[in-house]
Parts: sequence; structure tokens; C-alpha cells
Amino acid sequence: MQHPDSYFMEQAIRLSAKGRPLSPPNPAVGCVIVRDGEIIASGFTQKAGGHHAEIEALTDAERRGVNIEGATVYVTLEPCSHYGRTPPCALALINHRVGRVVAAMKDPNPLVAGKGLAMFEAAGPPAACLRKRPGKAIGGSSPG
Ligand SMILES: [Zn+2]
Repeated sequence: MQHPDSYFMEQAIRLSAKGRPLSPPNPAVGCVIVRDGEIIASGFTQKAGGHHAEIEALTDAERRGVNIEGATVYVTLEPCSHYGRTPPCALALINHRVGRVVAAMKDPNPLVAGKGLAMFEAAGPPAACLRKRPGKAIGGSSPG
């Protein structure tokens, strides 16, 4: 049986593909929120200036009326930690009191690069990164 982390990350990667036509210059990111082995909310990156995948998933949870406190968040890229066009997603996840965050990889963007994960370490839920080194976006056109 597949490890649940890889299974749910695969779902997040699939979702990220939907954002690919919209997101440039931002990376296409997918996000699923899981509780008790079930996806309760999901989202993917909207067009530049729009919501990041994590915020889309949080909005989706609100729309569905599901409680994500203590749930696990799978996201294909480290949640951002800087105020760009939008407030940092890492902060939003911390504020929503999610139980755990699993990122597929660190953000190669030097503005983030580990700082998103560090925000969780400092103030939030346990966070893990499946791939240690930054690299090309997972699920992107040139994986590797
Ligand atoms: Zn973000």
C-alpha cells in the first residue's frame, strides 16, 4: 500500500496541473486538506494576483463548512512566507490551526526558500518537506 503522504501529495500534484494555464509567472501549486484519510477541501493557484493554492483550499473549506482545525495540509510547494501581492500562506495556515503541513519541496524562490517552513517551526504545526532540496516545480512541464 502506498504511504498516505505520497497518495495525498499525488492528488495535490494532479490539482496543480489545473492551475498551470492560469498561474504564470507564479508556479502552479496544488493543495489538499485531509482529515481522517479523506480530502475535505482543495485548491490550486489562481491567476497572478489571485489566491494561492493554500488560500483557495481554505476558502473551499469555508464554502463547504468543514472544520480544518487539526487537519493535514498537503501542498506541492512550500507555503510562502512573504507579503507579496497576497499575505503569506504560511501565516493563514497557522491562523487556521491546521494540525500538520506536508510540502512536496522547498520553494526555490529566494524570498521564501525555507522561511515558510521555518514559520511553522516557530509558531505553528509540525511541517515536513518530502523533497529536501529545492528544484523544478513538481508536476511542472519539466519535472526533475
Ligand atoms: Zn502563498
